[in-house]
Amino acid sequence: MADRLVRGILGDGVARLFAIDVTGIAEQTRQFHKLKKDAVPLAAEAIVASVFMAGQIKGEERVSLQMQCNRPQCAFIADVDASGGVRARFTPETVFLSDKTGLDGMFLAIKSLPGKELYRGVTSIEQESIINALNRHIGASAQVDNILNIQVGISEDGSVEHAVGILIERLPSKEVAELEASAEFVVTFDPVREMAPQDIVSAVNGGVVQGVTLEVLERTDVTWRCSCGPQRVEAILLSLPVEELTAMLKEDGQAEVICHFCNVAYTVSGEKLQQMVVAKTPDAIH
Ligand SMILES: [Zn+2]
Repeated sequence: MADRLVRGILGDGVARLFAIDVTGIAEQTRQFHKLKKDAVPLAAEAIVASVFMAGQIKGEERVSLQMQCNRPQCAFIADVDASGGVRARFTPETVFLSDKTGLDGMFLAIKSLPGKELYRGVTSIEQESIINALNRHIGASAQVDNILNIQVGISEDGSVEHAVGILIERLPSKEVAELEASAEFVVTFDPVREMAPQDIVSAVNGGVVQGVTLEVLERTDVTWRCSCGPQRVEAILLSLPVEELTAMLKEDGQAEVICHFCNVAYTVSGEKLQQMVVAKTPDAIH
């Protein structure tokens, strides 16, 4: 499956399913940020986690996931919108992760509408993997039985082979007692925690997970999407104090702005900067 998010219902309402393939986005992130060694799988896992957190957003809502770790020292940020647009950044280029100690840090998830924050949740990462921390985050916030599996694979040359994930959340039962329904859910779906990436993909595509029929409600293509561009850069420059624009003109004769997500450099000519300075200077000074 190409990069996408699949939402569905299992067994006539027993559980809700989210399946994610973000192999392409993870590989783009690796290339944009020149990631090496353990930075690649960490970034890939964090991207899968970000898209999971955005699994239920609608309309103009977006989710931003920020991860700050002090061991190994690294930072990650991703923005995901409701139509499957993702951008991500991981720094530094190289980190070394110890299997013994895992990650130490925290992640912050923010759900928002343009200009309005809707939700903010912090989860600590305590000598563990991103998957474990995400599991705790989901368990704490959803209060339902849930099964999570994230599979990331890196090839010999360091590129991302696969970055997929599956999340199954039990829905409240109408027919049987909750305890019984919960036990049955665990027996049926627990093996999903260990599923290989290709098995996740073929189960979702085939519409059957652990012998239970999957009804797909929605398939959303996931693509790299960033708000940067020449117009955005000009708008940012225009918002700066006129003294700063004048200083750029004097020092460099132009302005260069680099997008932190795409690592693309935008150059604004001296002529354009001069026009901005004139536009921002109050008439009284002329
Ligand atoms: Zn960008």
